[in-house]
Amino acid sequence: MVNKESSTKKTNTEKLFHQFKNAWVDLSDKDKENTFQMAEEYKKFLDIGKTERECASEIITMAKNNGFKNIEELIANKTPLKPGMKIFASFKEKTVALFITGKESIEAGMNIIGSHIDSPRLDLKGSPLYEDAELALLKTHYYGGIKKYQWAAIPLALHGVIVKRDGNKTTISIGEADDDPVFVVSDILPHLGKDQAAKKASEAITGEQLNVIIGNIPMNDKKVKEHIKLNILSILKEKYQIEEEDFISAEIEVVPAGKAKDAGLDRSLILAYGHDDRVSAFPSLKSIFETKNPSKMAVALFTDKEEIGSVGNTGMCSAFFDNTVAELIALEKQNYNELYLRRALAKSKVLSADVNAGFDPSFPDVFDKKNSSYMGKGVILTKFTGSRGKSDANDAHAEFIGKIKNLFSANDIVWQASELGKVDAGGGGTIAYILANKGADVIDCGVAVLNMHAPFELISKVDLFMAYKAYKVFLQN
Ligand code: MN
Ligand code: MN
Repeated sequence: MVNKESSTKKTNTEKLFHQFKNAWVDLSDKDKENTFQMAEEYKKFLDIGKTERECASEIITMAKNNGFKNIEELIANKTPLKPGMKIFASFKEKTVALFITGKESIEAGMNIIGSHIDSPRLDLKGSPLYEDAELALLKTHYYGGIKKYQWAAIPLALHGVIVKRDGNKTTISIGEADDDPVFVVSDILPHLGKDQAAKKASEAITGEQLNVIIGNIPMNDKKVKEHIKLNILSILKEKYQIEEEDFISAEIEVVPAGKAKDAGLDRSLILAYGHDDRVSAFPSLKSIFETKNPSKMAVALFTDKEEIGSVGNTGMCSAFFDNTVAELIALEKQNYNELYLRRALAKSKVLSADVNAGFDPSFPDVFDKKNSSYMGKGVILTKFTGSRGKSDANDAHAEFIGKIKNLFSANDIVWQASELGKVDAGGGGTIAYILANKGADVIDCGVAVLNMHAPFELISKVDLFMAYKAYKVFLQN
């Protein structure tokens, strides 16, 4: 509940000022309970989905459980669309879109929440396995913007798929169960780390040093030279029916091992891998499940490859979303004209649901205090991202921001507005500009994160809850 008393007590001069508030302060007992309850559900989602494929699979399972039907069935039967229909579409097991048809036609525009389900990580190379100094190791190529030194000396897990020579596909997840082994990238001890310590942090551990230790026991065989590698290959064969060649047709992601954890003595925070951007994906998912008979078609879009520029056929720059909406228009109109799709996209409103860098009191120099987001001050509206003078940014229009902030305020949603760090301190981007290119009104809207892109990132539970409330009211209107 909003504390009406405190706002009415404001004098006329005080009312001239604006200050964002801490979302915990006026949280009702009921909403506090909801906040902690939702955090539990979110942690489970994080533990199930550590890769884009795992997230996509879980999203589809949850969508089916909530009555969403596969678009392929509708296309096959040429099923005409009616208001309130729940539909999902997915592509290559890595990107998913959920739709609830509106009372108005698709042509009138959609309300879209777009998040991404890929996260920074280490990917295995195509020929990863080698032996050196009595160890078997796996070579990796990092994915997305990481600080390489953060990935050494922590427990790691292997998740992914392997397509074998016979065409069969195996899925693996090793390192998450309590009795599973974990893996590690080594770092040099401080005693011998004098030269390393003198290097720039970006060079302290290089890309080619991000090698994952996978074994130490040799297997005796006079015909081969690499006995430790041989032992690992024989374990892979025995347990997973994988041979060395199969790594070439595999996607194995090395991610931090272990479960999402409450952080802080007051349990206000969550420390976990992959908040960027599952802390947007989860409330987006939950909010579309609770959307009933929206006026405009409600869309929750979960995209892949955001961390490497939204490229490829599962990234936001691909045709997947346009193709899917085109199919829906064809079902709605029982014919298709490209104009309908163009109108639909140009009239759409989008929350680009992605994280922002929360103000970090230990690193104040890279932030402008007045234009930063803060942990616990609610969901963030970010007018633009980009770098070097807003380059590559979607720059949301004042009119659209006005509508969105009023919608949030009218629904007791605690929100804040922020840029991404100080001018010229660096920068970043999201999928916002891609849908804006098609004419949609887009604003970045998400949760503050500390240690973004580190193996374990930090968010505040109340910000997650406010994101959920914000996404829900946006989809419904
Ligand atoms: Mn992101
Ligand atoms: Mn990111």
